[in-house]
Formats: sequence, C-alpha cells, structure tokens
Amino acid sequence: MLIMRNKSVKVGVIGVGHLGRHHTKHYASLQDADLVGIFDIDPHRASSIANQNNTNAFTELSSLLDEVEAVSIVTPTPFHAEVAEKCILTGKHVFIEKPITKTLEEADRLLLLSKEKGTMIQVGHIERLNPALLALKPYDISPKFIEIQRLAPYTTRGTDVPVVLDLMIHDIDILLSLVDSPVKTIRATGLSILTDSVDIAHARIRFGNGTVASIMSSRVAKDKVRKVKVFQRDLYATIDLLLGLTEVYKVVGDPDEDPQALMTAPFEYGGSERFIAYDKPPVIAGDALRMELDNFIKSVQGKETPIVTGKAGREALEVAMEIQQMIVQDIH
Ligand code: NAD
Repeated sequence: MLIMRNKSVKVGVIGVGHLGRHHTKHYASLQDADLVGIFDIDPHRASSIANQNNTNAFTELSSLLDEVEAVSIVTPTPFHAEVAEKCILTGKHVFIEKPITKTLEEADRLLLLSKEKGTMIQVGHIERLNPALLALKPYDISPKFIEIQRLAPYTTRGTDVPVVLDLMIHDIDILLSLVDSPVKTIRATGLSILTDSVDIAHARIRFGNGTVASIMSSRVAKDKVRKVKVFQRDLYATIDLLLGLTEVYKVVGDPDEDPQALMTAPFEYGGSERFIAYDKPPVIAGDALRMELDNFIKSVQGKETPIVTGKAGREALEVAMEIQQMIVQDIH
C-alpha cells in the first residue's frame, strides 16, 4: 500500500514511437506528473520528441532510471519484458503498454519481481477507459452472451505479434472486466492471410457462470469496426467503441416511462404488461490515454488504484495465449 502524497511524480517514457510520443505529450501537461525525460534506442527520434515536449532525451536507459520514480514502457511488445525488468529491478513503478509481455512466463516473472521490489505494474488496456464503455456504468450488467467484433485495415504496425495479441487482447480484457466468473472453456479458430502469423481470429469463450462470449478480430478489413454487444435478461446493450455511441434496450413495466423512449406497444410478459424502452446514456467525451496515465500517476501517489493492474494484464494474456495456441494447432 502506497502512502498518499501530493508531490509530483518524476516520470519518464521508454520508447517514443507512434504511441510513446503521446505518452510523452500527456505527461508533459499532467498536473501531478513531472516529466523528467525520455529514452529510445533511436537517438534522433528521442531528441526530436524531447524537443517538441521541452524535455530531456537520455542516451542511456540507466541514466533516465537514475532520475525517475515511474516510467511508461512503450517499446514494441517483444521488448516489454526485458525493459520492464531493468526498471523494476531499480525500484520503478511501471506502466506497460498492452499486451503486458509476449509470453506468460515473462509476465509471471515481472509480477514476482514487482512484488519483491514493492513496485506497481499497470497495463495499457486503454479500452477500459473508452467513454462509450464507461457509459454502461449506471446499468446493472450481468451478461448472458457477449459479442465483440474488432476489425482493422492492414498496417505493418503491430504485426510483430499475432492479431490475438495485437487486437483481440483489447476485447479479452473488456470481456474479463464485464464477466465476474472464471473462464471455463475456450474454442478458437483463425487463419493467416497477409503475414506468417494469425491475421484473423475467432474465439468462443464459456465462463463458469454459463456466460458465453464470441469475439472476432481481423487485421484484414476495409474499414475499422469496434463493437461490443451485451445480452442479458431484460436488457440488450450495443456499444460502438469507435463512434462513441452506447444504446440500451430494456424491458420496463412502468407506464410512466418517457413515452418517446418506448419502442413497442405493451405486451404480456411474466404475467404483467411490459414495454421495450430505448435509452441512450450520455457518453462523456475524454481522452482515454490521458485518463489512464493520470490514473497511473495518481496510483503512484496513492490517491487512486490502478484501473488495469499487472495481474489483470496477465489474465488477459493468459486467455489470449490459449486462443493463439488453439488457432496454431488448428492451422497445422
Ligand atoms: P513503434 O514501433 O511506433 O514505436 C516503438 C518505439 O520503441 C520506437 O521508437 C523504437 O525505436 C523504440 N524501441 C524499440 N526497442 C526499444 C528498447 N529496447 N528501448 C527503448 N526504445 C526502444 O510502436 P508503437 O506502435 O508505438 O507500439 C508500442 C507499444 O504500444 C506496443 O507494445 C503496442 O502493442 C502498444 N500499443 C498499444 C496501443 C493501445 O491501443 N493501447 C496502440 C498502439 C500500440
């Protein structure tokens, strides 16, 4: 348990490519963060991003670690474990971009090390802070069936890992946050289209409480799609993570319900008169990356707790690895 304090957290960013430069930009302006500097194995890139954000470009990782108490690790996934280990060994709190690591063994080692060193690991499962998903908070969510679809046009970024670890892991994390029950069985299929690894994946996951989920991810698509559909007794919710639109249909019995919200004429259900009502909860716009980095800094200060812990990142990875292995066995 960290002791609460108000002092700014001295923070650094390791890996300032596509996403790391946004981490840098946010830390430069977050009230409780004191951006000390950045490190990248590409020194030109580091100095250019440092200049843009009025901070220091360190030429050695160890020199940056001498000056900070927390870091964001935004290197390509295959380097997360090696870099995070160096940081944790020197007692730093780490925010690791998703997926936590490339293998489960690496994740376990980091979790053990951080426990030994008394440091915190937070993982960048950014969709947890997607405003459209947060809009579901007022509802009593207890899903029976969940369908999630995530499609993306092909780019070379992220193809250093299979689509399950690049895209599907976002939805696995969402799923595990929505269903309060352990995973019981997994079935998965997939195929390679454009790379030597899996580009399209489909998984059917059954939880101990009977909830079933169907998740599909593809990096071979014309348009981007990111949709979550939640079905449960008397409620159906559809969440468009890309458009920021959440719509809820529920069975209501109250005749005083806003007449404009009623979608049907009254019908007989469970021995009484019911209607289906439409609800469009407010989606409060916000930058999810900024919110998760603010949560990381405040967690280091002891003012908040991490929204996505290292343990949650490891759990999402475990399910992802099982899906990935099943697909590879299926293909061969
Ligand atoms: P990128 O290739 O654009 O940038 C990676 C940067 O890290 C490069 O500048 C590279 O020079 C640097 N680098 C490589 N090895 C390094 C090392 N050992 N030490 C220091 N710097 C090193 O990659 P990206 O698209 O920014 O992705 C980075 C990470 O962020 C990946 O793990 C990826 O999965 C994750 N990511 C997450 C999201 C999300 O939605 N949360 C989105 C994109 C990427």
